[in-house]
Amino acid sequence: MKLKHVIALYIIASLLFCKPLVAELKTIQLITMGGAITGTQKDALSGKFKLSSRSAETLVAGNIEILELADIKFKELFNIPSQEITTEHWIKLAKEVDKAVNNITNDAVIITHGTDTLEETAYFLNLTIKTKKPIIITGAIRAALHPSSDSTQNLIDSIRVATHPNASNKGVLVVANGKIISARQIQKNYNHSLDALESSEIGILGYVHNEIIDFHTASIKKHTLYSEFDIKTIEDLPTVDIAYAYSGGLSANLKNKVNGLIIAGVGSGNISKKNIAILKKLQKNNIQIVRSTRNIGAPLYSTIGSEINDKYLEFVSSNNLSPQKARILLMLALHKTKDPNKIRSYFENH
Ligand code: ASP
Repeated sequence: MKLKHVIALYIIASLLFCKPLVAELKTIQLITMGGAITGTQKDALSGKFKLSSRSAETLVAGNIEILELADIKFKELFNIPSQEITTEHWIKLAKEVDKAVNNITNDAVIITHGTDTLEETAYFLNLTIKTKKPIIITGAIRAALHPSSDSTQNLIDSIRVATHPNASNKGVLVVANGKIISARQIQKNYNHSLDALESSEIGILGYVHNEIIDFHTASIKKHTLYSEFDIKTIEDLPTVDIAYAYSGGLSANLKNKVNGLIIAGVGSGNISKKNIAILKKLQKNNIQIVRSTRNIGAPLYSTIGSEINDKYLEFVSSNNLSPQKARILLMLALHKTKDPNKIRSYFENH
């Protein structure tokens, strides 16, 4: 055998039998929903965000090397500002995420989303997807093509968390501004600053600092595999509205036909006597009343000393869920039962 044949055989054999030295990339299904993270600017200086017609390309435009961190499959599911997202969008997204986590070739899912209602979508997914695989949801305060956008960094951090072994079995996680926050605690606290996506009083789960992923804690409220709800059984949701309380009054538009009503009450979910009498009648007519509070992040419980007797009225208190998150849990609860005691137990442990 001539030398050139030996060399050729050696090259073919090494290509066939040698394992590459670089670690295999994990596969991520990335689903885009719209919002500033995939958006452009109206013009260079205005700072005004505009939806991009090519959301996936805009997302990686800030740093194409992002694609070296994982094997990413892009899917644009919607391209809308998050204030337009309805229960139908949640159901469609959740079914898509369910399909993605059940595909054995995917290791994790990342969703990019507008920040205004990101907390609601995150909590819905947290309660309805049955998986241990990491599901990360992220957004940006400044559009992807803004001169100092947080879009690229939030995406890089999300990919790093999604591919980290400690991210599995933690429920849906929000990654933003170098922090990892549970879907249950995430809330948008500010309108413009880069730390807008924050946790309630309970705190963040951990930090992302470049390639360091540092988890400190985990949420033990029921989520994903352990939650009582499953997107496979959900095709639509009951109607639940939110009424805002103020000194002496309540903003409920009771002409709308609803199955449940969340009260963003004052203080510990308090409501004036006149309005309690109205709500008592609604509860008797099978409209479940859940008391939350307009005080962001504060818990409210039914105790012997509470000013409102939930047990007697068959009302439910929302623990520390904001009115918008309590609405999600009540929709899912009413999908299964009308029993106030059962609904109360869902609010105690989800
Ligand atoms: N209104 C936009 C949205 O929520 C703003 C943002 O993405 O931050 O989609």
